[in-house]
Formats: sequence, structure tokens, C-alpha cells
Amino acid sequence: MTPFRTDRHRMHIIDLHTHNIPEPAGSAVYCLPLGVTEIPAGQICSAGIHPWDAETAGEEQFAWVERMLSLDSVVSVGEVGFDRLRGPSLNIQEAVFARQVELSEKYGKPLVIHSVKSTDLLLAMKRELCPAMPWAVHGFRGGTRLAGELLDHGLSISFGVRSNPDALRYVGIDRMLAETDSHIGIDSVISAMAPVLGIPADVVTDRLQSNLSVFLEPVLARWEKNCIFASEQTDK
Ligand SMILES: [Zn+2]
Repeated sequence: MTPFRTDRHRMHIIDLHTHNIPEPAGSAVYCLPLGVTEIPAGQICSAGIHPWDAETAGEEQFAWVERMLSLDSVVSVGEVGFDRLRGPSLNIQEAVFARQVELSEKYGKPLVIHSVKSTDLLLAMKRELCPAMPWAVHGFRGGTRLAGELLDHGLSISFGVRSNPDALRYVGIDRMLAETDSHIGIDSVISAMAPVLGIPADVVTDRLQSNLSVFLEPVLARWEKNCIFASEQTDK
């Protein structure tokens, strides 16, 4: 069975976000470097303009994002967002973010967010834009208060290996997403989470798969309808 395969809207992957080309192909959502012309074979990807790159984002970069989002193997928009410690002025970051929210809605693909000291701005945008697509803050390292604010506003939270244990327990296994963001394996993330949550690693694995499937439901429903990966990638 390939990692692509969906059983009634269920995806057999856990890792929401990585910058390393996943092995085996399709075992994580691979964040495409800005401007790449080809999707590595068999990968499931996300595409977006990072806030650090917002200064130089012009029509060419937005056209690239659109081109990528029109592909079935690109399942999310990201990472996009705000960073108060790095990148251009917040006005520029905000304009680039808002435009990518429009693309997320237009192509029906969930949003994966980079947010550094910008939760106020992010929540203001969420209230203003009222998106239909789900949003997830990736690489969350904040505490319970910040986690609570995000959840109250309907955002999902994705945890990596360096997470705040109190926030992990507060969000709980039913609502969290997980990611590597780098070369470490998702198993390391799960092994770190399981004792904090007090849940066996295999149960954590199972729940994280379900949670990612729910987050990507808008895309998985289309896959199933079009039988995209089921027919192209399996039983070869
Ligand atoms: Zn990242």
C-alpha cells in the first residue's frame, strides 16, 4: 500500500510539514521551495510564499503558487504567515498573507501557518476574512494560553519535537497535528509526545493520522471523487 492511498477519506500519513524530501515518497507533506518547477516524483506537497520572502513576492511568485495549487498532489497552502522577528514590514507580510488566503479558498486547500509573535495579527485576519478552509499553525511552541486562543478561533495546532508539554496536554490527542519540519523522523516526534500525553505510541500514531485526514478533508474528498491517487499510485 502506498502512503497516498485513502480509505474513506483517511490518509496514511502523519507529518503535516517538512522541508526535507520525504522518504518514502508521499510519507509527509513536503513544503516546496519557492519557484521549483517540478514536483519530486510521488510526493504530496504544500506551496506558498513564506513571510520571510514576502518582500520580493511579485506576480511571478503568486503565479507559481497558483500553478502549484492547481495540481492534485499539492494539498495545502504554506507555509504562509507572519513573523515579527524576521522579514519585511508587517504591512507587506499582511498583504502577501491575505492574497494567499484567497488562493487557499479559491483552490479549496487548507492553510499551514508560520506565526512568530503574531497571534494577534493572525486572529484579526481570521476574523476579518472568515475562511472556509481550515487553518493550522505549524511548529507551535507556545504555552496553554496561546494554544487556547488559537483553538477558540477554530485553528488547528501542529506540534514538532520541541513542544511545550503543558500545551501538548492542553490541546490533547483529539485535536493536535504533528510535524517534523526537518530531517528528523516523525517517529521521534511521536516518541517524544507519547509519554507526555500518557498514551501508547501506536495510539498516538493512529490518532494523528485521523487528525491529519480531517484537516485535509477538503482535498481528500476530491481525491476520492476523482480517484486520483487510488488509480494512479496503487497496485503497480
Ligand atoms: Zn517549516
